[in-house]
This record gives sequence, structure tokens and C-alpha cells, in this order.
Amino acid sequence: MCELRSVKERQVRIDGAESATYSLTAAALLCGGGFGANRWFGHDMLIRNFIFWLSSKRGVTNAIARRGMKYGFARRFVAGETLAEALTASDELCRAGRHVSLNHLGENVTTEAAAREVCASYLEMTEQMHAKNLAGNISIKLTQLGLDLSKELCGALTLSIAKRAAELGRTIEMDMEGSVYTDATLDIFESTQRETGNCGLAIQAYLHRTEKDIQRLAPLRPKIRLVKGAYREPANIAVQGKPAVDANYRKLTTLLLEGATRGLYFPAIASHDPFMVTHAQSEAARLGLPKDKYELQMIYGIRRDLQQQARDAGNILQVYVPFGTDWCPYFMRRLSERPANCWFVLRSLVAESSS
Ligand SMILES: Cc1cc2nc3c(=O)[nH]c(=O)nc-3n(C[C@H](O)[C@H](O)[C@H](O)COP(=O)(O)OP(=O)(O)OC[C@H]3O[C@@H](n4cnc5c(N)ncnc54)[C@H](O)[C@@H]3O)c2cc1C
Repeated sequence: MCELRSVKERQVRIDGAESATYSLTAAALLCGGGFGANRWFGHDMLIRNFIFWLSSKRGVTNAIARRGMKYGFARRFVAGETLAEALTASDELCRAGRHVSLNHLGENVTTEAAAREVCASYLEMTEQMHAKNLAGNISIKLTQLGLDLSKELCGALTLSIAKRAAELGRTIEMDMEGSVYTDATLDIFESTQRETGNCGLAIQAYLHRTEKDIQRLAPLRPKIRLVKGAYREPANIAVQGKPAVDANYRKLTTLLLEGATRGLYFPAIASHDPFMVTHAQSEAARLGLPKDKYELQMIYGIRRDLQQQARDAGNILQVYVPFGTDWCPYFMRRLSERPANCWFVLRSLVAESSS
């Protein structure tokens, strides 16, 4: 597991040259008041990397964490800091015909006690969702359940959550994290799903290996959540650039939907990209796959217009609902996916701090 951690550190390491570039970017952002939306988009990649770099700076994340909930900008993407707030938000979504997937934010715990605490909180989430009769499930992150400490511990905690959910007639889903965790996540997913049969797994379209992984999972008849992938991965592991990732995403969508016609998968197409959503809908129609044999998934607060369109089209729509006090890294990832979101944060700060 030490090896896991050192590879992970290499993945997020920022060297001096990058750091200098980011300082210049910061200066440009702060001084160049004329940054219009188009210029902003022209610098997308640099900004995206800059936000990744910022998210590794404790001082910055602490400052954002202090202000985020107070000024409300974090609430756009995070349902609240407590389970009660997340359940209230979920209840509203379910009343509007959505399913939800609750996620307690946080990653990479460093002690067994912390992993067991997270496990207890996932069990509590499952019980509460069941008691409130909310449609959907919980999404778990394996590094929150001690994957850095011990694969056995993480597997045992995951199994205990899946078993309790199964007793209640409910499902769970597993997020996919950085590529250093892919093998271990697949192993734990396979062994848990084999035993309980109620698990879904996120699979990242940008990884070269993903088509083979999807084929490997077919015998388990799983729910597969197809995502583009949210981490920075090198070219030997992942395709680079939006056109290539999109092409892979479309190809894998078709593969999953074709598999669904033979009962091999329950595909969950998780994207806010209208082209990916349209592709899934038209491929499902071409294949004669009924709308209850696959679903669309989107994240809380993102592309709410597209979420409504999916419901209007009669698709099952599951909304990923994150909550918790440790929301900053997640929030920074949402900013990096769409740097225009930074304007929304800045506007909220300026408007609300001057009122
Ligand atoms: C339900 C769900 C679960 C996920 N689980 C995982 C996981 O387990 N592991 C993982 O690696 N990744 C996960 N992701 C994130 C995913 O990998 C992508 O990083 C993210 O969804 C952005 O890709 P996209 O498909 O939405 O398309 P993009 O090509 O990134 O964006 C297409 C369009 O979507 C809109 N959009 C996208 N992101 C935002 C945003 N943050 N704010 C506002 N608008 C936005 C914009 O209009 C943009 O033009 C998940 C995504 C979803 C929807």
C-alpha cells in the first residue's frame, strides 16, 4: 500500500516550472480585469491545471472552506454539511421524479478508526434513506474506507455496507478514483458484487483499459456508471483531450447499451454533455432498449436544464448528491471541469460580502 501512496504522490506532484506558470496565471487573473468569457475559455487548460494546483494548497482550500457555506457559493454543488441537509435536498429531488445517490464527501483516510467511522456513516445514510423511502442509493469512495491502509480492511467494510443495503432491498454504487486505485477498486467491486449482487461501479471512459474492464465485468451483470473521468492521468494511461475522450465515451456507451439488450449490464450514462446524452438516447432507441433498462446520471447543481430535459424525455435520472464538511477538494474539481464556474464563485463572494 506504501507503493500506492507514492505513485499517487507522483500523480499530483507539481514541479517548480508549473508552479511559476501558475503564479503568472494567478497574476493575470487578478490584474487583467479584461478577461472576458471567450478569452477565459481560450485558456481553459491552463486554468484547469491552475485550479488543480490551487486545490493542493492548504491555505487556499482553508480560506475557501471558511467562506464557502457562509457565502453560499458551495451550496450550488454541495447539498449541505450534514446528513439531515442532504436528506432534505434528496427528498425534494425525489418529489420531482429524480432518483438520488448520496455521497458523504471525503477521500484518503489515514487511520483505521477514521475508515470505520466513515463506514458507520454510510450505514447510517442507507438506514435513513430507507426510512424516508428515498429512491436511489449511496455512492462510496474506497479510499474513504481505508484503501490506502489495507485492501482487506477496505474490502471488509465495503462488504458490510453492501450486505446491509441488500438486506433492505437497496443498492450501492462505488466511485472510481485516480488510476493508481483502479485495480484494487475493480477487485473489491468484483468480490462484493459476487457476494451481494447489488453493486454498481463507476468506470472512466478516458482510460485505455476501460473497454477490457467492461467486458471483464459482464459476467457479474452489474450496473456500470460511465463517466469521462475527473483526474489528471498521463498519456500512457488515458487518452488526452476532449475530442478523444468524447469519442471513447460514445463508443463505450454503445457497447454498454448493446450489452444491456442482452441483459449484461444496467448502463448509467453519467455526463452533462448534451452530445453524450443525445448519443445515449438515440443509440438506445436504435437498439430498441426500453427506457427502464438504462439511466442518465448528473451531479447536484450542474446543468439543471439538461436534468429537466432528461426527465421530460421520460428517462430515469439519478442525481449524485454530495454532502459533508470535507467538501473543498470536490468543489475544486467541479470548478476545474468548467472554469466559468469560477466567475459564479467570484460573483457570489463580491455580491454577498458587500451586502
Ligand atoms: C453522476 C456522476 C458521477 C461521477 N462519478 C465519477 C467518478 O466516480 N469518478 C470520476 O473520475 N469522475 C466521476 N464523475 C465526473 C466525470 O468524470 C466528469 O469529470 C464530469 O462529469 C465532467 O464531464 P462531463 O461528462 O459532464 O462532460 P464535459 O465534457 O466535462 O462537459 C460537458 C458540458 O457539461 C457541462 N459541465 C460539465 N461539468 C460542469 C461543471 N462542473 N459545472 C457546470 N457545468 C458543467 C458544461 O456545459 C460542459 O460544456 C461523475 C460524473 C457524474 C455526472
